[in-house]
Amino acid sequence: MQTPTPPPFEPAAPSRRPLREGLLAAVLTLAVSAGVLLIVYQQAQSALTANLRSRLENLATLAAGEMEGGLLAGLDTPGQMGTPDYRRACEPLLRLRAAVPEVFYAYAVTVRGEDAVFLLDTSYYIKNDGDNTVVAQTGEVYAEAPDALHAAWRNRRVASSAEPYADKWGVFLSAFAPVADGKGGAAGLVGVDISLREFNLLLRPLNWAFGVAAGLSLLGSAGIGLGRYRSQCRRLRYEEELLKASREAGEAAVAAEAANRAKGVFLATMSHEIRTPLNGVLGMTEVLAGMPLAPEQAEHVNTIRKSGEMLLAIINDILDYTKIEAGASAIATAPVALRPCVEETLAMLAPLARKKGLTLAAEWGADAPAVALADAGRVRQILGNLVGNAVKFTGHGGVTLRVESAELDGAAAVALAVCDTGEGIPADRMERLFTPFTQVDDPAARRQGGTGLGLAISLRLATLMGGRLTVESEVGRGSRFKLVLPKAEGDRPAADAAPEGGPAATATANPAAISDADERAAPALRRYRMLVAEDVESNRRVVELLLKRLGQAPVFAVDGEMAVEAWREQRPEVVFMDVSMPGMDGREAARRIRAECGDTMRPWIIALTAGALNEEREAALGAGMNDFITKPVSGAMLATALARVPGPVA
Ligand code: ADP
Repeated sequence: MQTPTPPPFEPAAPSRRPLREGLLAAVLTLAVSAGVLLIVYQQAQSALTANLRSRLENLATLAAGEMEGGLLAGLDTPGQMGTPDYRRACEPLLRLRAAVPEVFYAYAVTVRGEDAVFLLDTSYYIKNDGDNTVVAQTGEVYAEAPDALHAAWRNRRVASSAEPYADKWGVFLSAFAPVADGKGGAAGLVGVDISLREFNLLLRPLNWAFGVAAGLSLLGSAGIGLGRYRSQCRRLRYEEELLKASREAGEAAVAAEAANRAKGVFLATMSHEIRTPLNGVLGMTEVLAGMPLAPEQAEHVNTIRKSGEMLLAIINDILDYTKIEAGASAIATAPVALRPCVEETLAMLAPLARKKGLTLAAEWGADAPAVALADAGRVRQILGNLVGNAVKFTGHGGVTLRVESAELDGAAAVALAVCDTGEGIPADRMERLFTPFTQVDDPAARRQGGTGLGLAISLRLATLMGGRLTVESEVGRGSRFKLVLPKAEGDRPAADAAPEGGPAATATANPAAISDADERAAPALRRYRMLVAEDVESNRRVVELLLKRLGQAPVFAVDGEMAVEAWREQRPEVVFMDVSMPGMDGREAARRIRAECGDTMRPWIIALTAGALNEEREAALGAGMNDFITKPVSGAMLATALARVPGPVA
């Protein structure tokens, strides 16, 4: 009777470690920012270098322009250092060094064949601090000359080294400019050097900026890593909490399901246990009432019967309510013809209304829809409850059931309004009306009987069918309970319009409602070869007496095994089969009989059980039984069940 609970939501277990995530974020950020910084630095450095080279080239060109080509051409032999010509030729270079202190060396060279050869070296006159190198001699081959020197000589154009280069004097960046010889050629080259130290000094601000930027990027990366670590920690905590909550919810759902199942089992058992003795009480009362009794005795028997019926109604209500609450109540909506529902309800309550001197009528609005989208049985149940209450709580006047068109959430609907001229319901008690086990006015309600469950059940059923149940009431003037149901598409009712028939259709009929009227209506029955399998003696007796009154003479079996045996010997046409019996139960007995006879209609097996749950009915029919009635049984129920036995097969 339980709907399976879907497995609880299980978030994936948190797998990533926050520290790893944090480190990853930091390293990634650092890599990206360092990459960008490096590119920027290299571009800045090459721009600076280009700037420096062009300055060096300008200085070299300037000095070369001041040099005397003729003088220089004569200084290409050794031993000329320090001569007045040497000094005079050095003059422009010495001026340059005095004016531009960053210039480390200034000199003149020429190229002979493949070799660069020194002509002048200003270090002969000016020595840099800490420079212990030997002054280049006139005519000395400059073996480590940079490419820029040869390029300048080849092209007769100023050129500079793209990168610092090293020779025996140190590491330098140099520019070379040709000195014109006055004949269209070059007398030599002026070389201007700047040392690496000087070069680095120029780069220092850039290096500083780079250092600061790198530091900031390192800090930023660490910050981002830390942030990521923290957020991962938070996420991990959150995921763990979610996981825990979801596990707890899952456990709670499992526990709730188990509790529900236990409740269902308990209810089925309880209902069975109470129905069995009640069967004896109600059955015997009925038998007794059929005997000649003194008026006082008849009255007492009637009181016993009413009490028994009330007890049964209470059990039915509790079972019904619990099933609805457990979500185990199957509601199947289909087009339902309303006229039969309304008429049957009124017919059922007419005797009570008549007894109280009340009018009871149906009114059909001109535009009243004929068909609702609902569960036919449940509509009857709700109407029975509403009209039953109205009749119960009305002293004089009458009750009308008015059917009219209505609206439900903007869609066409049908309203079934039960109006009475009764005592009404005080405003402060209206909201408790639909809560289970509340009776608005306790003493009066007790007087009238009832469990206080009827309206609670009705409201839930109305909601389950997609409808609504509301109430308006005025103390002393009456109440109006309105059931609104969705209107069915088109106006074609389901099979519901036909009078109810077929096996087991009245199986859940409340014996309290099957009163004298039904019994009077019982048709004359032919006598069947009949077997009753029932283990409880008092129940056997009740069924025997009731069947006797219906002109039947059954034989009896006290368990399933005996029932199968009796069937083999007597070939009964009808079998009333109690379901739960010691040893072989009714279902097993039915299965065996069916397996042996191979005929699905003979014997006609009617399950007789104290269990009122739907599952029991299905299990009984599944075991090969043909019909199903619940205890406590009445003469009327037996008669109705027998009326459903199909005629003899040809
Ligand atoms: P019960 O089975 O006791 O009738 P219900 O849930 O059907 O339980 O009704 C609950 C209570 O609401 C009743 O006991 C009664 O006090 C009040 N009530 C219901 N219908 C009416 C009505 N038409 N007029 C006055 N009181 C009503």
